[in-house]
Formats: sequence, structure tokens, C-alpha cells
Amino acid sequence: MQYRIGILGGSFDPIHLAHVEAARIARKTLDLDFVYLVPAGNPYHRDEVLASTEQRLAMCELAAQGHDWLQVSKVDTDRIGNTYTIDTIRELAQEFTLNHPNDSAEWFLILGADAYQDFPQWKQPEEIARSVSMVVVSRPGESSQELDHFPCRFIDVPGWEISSTQVRLSAGNNESISELVAPSVNEYITTNKLYIN
Ligand code: ATP
Ligand code: MG
Repeated sequence: MQYRIGILGGSFDPIHLAHVEAARIARKTLDLDFVYLVPAGNPYHRDEVLASTEQRLAMCELAAQGHDWLQVSKVDTDRIGNTYTIDTIRELAQEFTLNHPNDSAEWFLILGADAYQDFPQWKQPEEIARSVSMVVVSRPGESSQELDHFPCRFIDVPGWEISSTQVRLSAGNNESISELVAPSVNEYITTNKLYIN
């Protein structure tokens, strides 16, 4: 069998509704068998109260519950040092070959429009573009312009202004985040008093 597999990487600090919606729409549009959520090992925000790697993973697991097509991968959180997507792709492909010796896979890298605009500055972008098909999900206020040398398929979704930054700010101000994250993630944030100074 040939699998069609999506990869959505990010800090997921925390995972919010637009992340899951981006994965869902990409899966539907591209007929993917499943999508890996890959929390980054070493996110680099500054001057902010942040969740630990274990907490970010736990929230991704909660958000993925009930979606059998959404799987949380620890390839990046298990690796020491900075997260580079070229390593993520290589490790996921190796893992796939080990687990499915008789199958093949076509890989789709799902990016928000902001991440795609930064893509030429990533480590080995040409190599990444050769290994996967890039799928770009629109994001309010971000360009939907295709970059030279890095073809992609754009998926236009109704503008959803959710960001993890906004979730952290709202939670820190004791404002409701029920419109921004899944109920289980909301409960986890409240119980663990995340993002509160
Ligand atoms: P932060 O505000 O901390 O940067 P974020 O909301 O941008 O968080 P990330 O973990 O940085 O979330 O993003 C992971 C991936 O999801 C990136 O490719 C990003 O572009 C994409 N993404 C995040 N939010 C949206 C959104 N509202 N619409 C489309 N794509 C999104
Ligand atoms: Mg971001």
C-alpha cells in the first residue's frame, strides 16, 4: 500500500483549534491517511511563561483524542538540540520504513502561511522540498504568495485569528480560552495553572 501522510510541526504551546482544523482540512483536501502532529523539541520564545515539553506533548495527545487520523509523534521532543524539519522528515521516514517494510509513503508538509514565508531561511530547504510536497494553509494577515523555487499547494481556509500567543495571553489574564482550544486542553491548562505569571 502507498500511504499519504501529513506532517504538522510546531511549538504547540499550546495546541489550539486552528492547528487541528489546519490538519483536518489538509487531510480532507489531499486525501491523507493520517497526519502527524510533531511538537518541537526546543522552541525559542523569550520573556514568556511557557509550558514544559511534557505539558505540550500531553496537550497534543488530548487534542488528538477522538481523531484516529491524528497522531502525536515524539521524534522532535526525543532529540536533543534544536529542531530542524529536515531531521523530522528523515526520522519519520525511517520510522515508517521500519514499521511498514512492504509499504511506501508520500509525505506532505503542512505549514501555516507565516511558516511558509520563513521557509527559505530554514536548514536545507531545497532538500526538504525534494522530500515532501508542501501544503500551505492560509492565515489571517499572512501572504498567500507562492515562493520562487519552493512550489506549494495553497489551501484557503476561512480566516481564523487564533494563535498560541493569544491563548497564552488570555490564560495569563484569566480570560476565557474556550473558543480557542479544545475543552480537554482548556481543562488541562486550568488544572495545571499554565501561562499564569
Ligand atoms: P505562536 O503564537 O506561539 O507562534 P502559533 O499559533 O503560531 O503559536 P505554532 O506552534 O507556532 O502556533 O504553529 C505551528 C504551525 O501551525 C505553523 O505552521 C503555523 O503557521 C500553523 N498555524 C498556527 N496557527 C494557525 C492559524 N490560525 N491558521 C493557520 N495556520 C496556523
Ligand atoms: Mg507561530
